[in-house]
Amino acid sequence: MLKLYNTLSRKKEDFKPINPGHAGMYCCGPTVYNYAHIGNLRAYIFEDILRRVLDFNAFDVKQVMNITDVGHLASDADEGEDKLMKALAREGKKPSVEAMKELARMYEGAFKKDIKQLNILDPLIWCRATEHIKEMIELIKKIDKNGYAYKTSSGLMFDTSKFKYYAELGKLKLKDLKAGARIKLDKEKKNPSDFALWITNQPNHLMQWESEFGKGFPGWHIECSAMSIKYLGEQFDIHCGGIDHIPVHHTNEIAQSEAATGKHPWVNYWLHGEFLIFGKEKMAKSGDGFITLKTLIDKGYGPLVYRYFCLGAHYRQQLTFSFEALDAAKNAYEKLTSKVIELKEKGEKAGSDDMGYLSRFAEAINDDLNTPQALALMWDMLKDEDVGNKLSLLLEFDRILGLGVKDMKKEDFKVPKDVLELLKKRDEARKKKDWKLSDEIRDGIKASGFSVLDTKEGQKVEKV
Ligand code: AMP
Ligand code: ZN
Repeated sequence: MLKLYNTLSRKKEDFKPINPGHAGMYCCGPTVYNYAHIGNLRAYIFEDILRRVLDFNAFDVKQVMNITDVGHLASDADEGEDKLMKALAREGKKPSVEAMKELARMYEGAFKKDIKQLNILDPLIWCRATEHIKEMIELIKKIDKNGYAYKTSSGLMFDTSKFKYYAELGKLKLKDLKAGARIKLDKEKKNPSDFALWITNQPNHLMQWESEFGKGFPGWHIECSAMSIKYLGEQFDIHCGGIDHIPVHHTNEIAQSEAATGKHPWVNYWLHGEFLIFGKEKMAKSGDGFITLKTLIDKGYGPLVYRYFCLGAHYRQQLTFSFEALDAAKNAYEKLTSKVIELKEKGEKAGSDDMGYLSRFAEAINDDLNTPQALALMWDMLKDEDVGNKLSLLLEFDRILGLGVKDMKKEDFKVPKDVLELLKKRDEARKKKDWKLSDEIRDGIKASGFSVLDTKEGQKVEKV
């Protein structure tokens, strides 16, 4: 039985979908105003694991991910400039609707390239905010009709005091919410936690649409309510994102959706991924710690090394990034690659899974996606002399891990230049029958993390 930690109950729960055999899943996607950093990418790797685990458990998964290309203001509390307009200024581009679209499409493309390289499966449905304005306006009309909205000079606001479950997801202490870092008390707001559904009277905002509430553009949260309901229905199974979304974005999404449909709960399981930490803080798009996947690739780390690094920590634990820690993941990933190549070359020894590795692996991942334990089981299995069908087991594990086992080939296994040079010297030493020097060089190679086998075809190296 698949168990998932549900933020709503703060407990692990058995996963029971609304429609047996099916799982509807919505993931808050990127705001396309910059490249994704590897912290963002950690969130998408966790969601990919969740989707693969659902698939492994034979659910027919319908995964939907949005692309935010309008309406996400610089602060989550409806303040500041649109992030995309800020990006235009940052890149020295003349502000225009076309330039904003072009910029959004460029970063959307870069994001899709990143996730492909990380073996993150494409959601079944991608949806852009700017292409769902009609659905957002319709939803806002329902919220308004049901008495949850009020007008101010800056647009239409959601009255959070009218929604009785508002504090539920974030276990918020609403009385303590004051104007401050997160909440700037707009004098016209009835409650500090109220938020914008539709923003008007911002003549400088490039993208504006006509609506019953005046010419304007959507607040950030409404797009996820409108698009998830459109594609997954008024109630669905799973919603996920990073933990920063709990107190504001997801809380507001719930309020809007339930206020519009009158159905509670809107979503049954809420899953949230913890942060990637750099230095002492969470990795963020501003600051020194802005590391992209390209930064890693340029430094010689394959994208799947980063995926392996992320799987080494449970998604609900903070993960501290450092290049030393990434080196350890690189080493392990290379060792796995060389093991897989060896298994592919030797051919599969017949055998059965008497030790029950597959069921133990399934148990680990079904226990709230315990990837560190799943990786540990993978290594135990590879070391176990009694297991014959290692490659087929690995391929089965890789349906979830997504480490590219099927495609690992000899050409991917790159022996570093310095080791290649040592191998050449050792070959010369052996030709001269200088066994002492040959052994010394072997030790040097070992210190670089490789072992040498002397075969009929010559020297062969393996990752130790
Ligand atoms: P954004 O593009 O800023 O909307 O963020 C995309 C996703 O990345 C969201 O689910 C965030 O919660 C998540 N996220 C942002 N920063 C981090 C971080 N340092 N570690 C992990 N996830 C993050
Ligand atoms: Zn969202």
